[in-house]
Order: sequence, then C-alpha cells, then structure tokens
Amino acid sequence: MAKIPAFAYLLVGALVAYVSLRIGETFTFFFYVGLVFLGIGLAKLLIGFLLRKKETKTEKKLEQPAKPANHIRYCPRCRSACRMFDYFCWRCGTRLR
Ligand SMILES: [Zn+2]
Repeated sequence: MAKIPAFAYLLVGALVAYVSLRIGETFTFFFYVGLVFLGIGLAKLLIGFLLRKKETKTEKKLEQPAKPANHIRYCPRCRSACRMFDYFCWRCGTRLR
C-alpha cells in the first residue's frame, strides 16, 4: 500500500466534499468521492492506531530477552570494551574491523 498519511485522505475528502457542495448538484458524485476519502482516512487512522498499539506490545516483549551489552565489542588486544561501530580501540588503537 502506498504510504499516504491518513490526514491527507481526510484533508482531500473534506476539501472535495466541501467544494462539490458549494458548486452544486451536478457535483454530488464528487461529494460522495469526498466522503469515501474521509472514510479511508478515518480507517487508516484507526488501523495505524491499532498497529502502533500492537507494535509497542511486541517491542516490550522483545526487549526483555535482548542483552543490554549487545552494542559492545571487546578489543582483541587489550580486552577493553569498545562501541560496536568504532573502527579503532579507544585505548590501544587496535583496528577493530
Ligand atoms: Zn585495545
């Protein structure tokens, strides 16, 4: 699905419905199109809200078994703890990768 934010649907829907109402009866079709867009926007908001709730739940479950020292590696020469993304040991200057 294309990543169009829900508020964009709401905005377009409200705009189309409003404009078609102002123009007149010949544009009632567009009024319904606007309503459909409003519905899609609301549905997207709801789905996004529900998905976010699920994500935070699964994240909490995943965080517990994860080791806190995941981003730490040890220098092969002096055994001091270095950050995972460092190229050189901060203590002895040995190349880490
Ligand atoms: Zn070192």
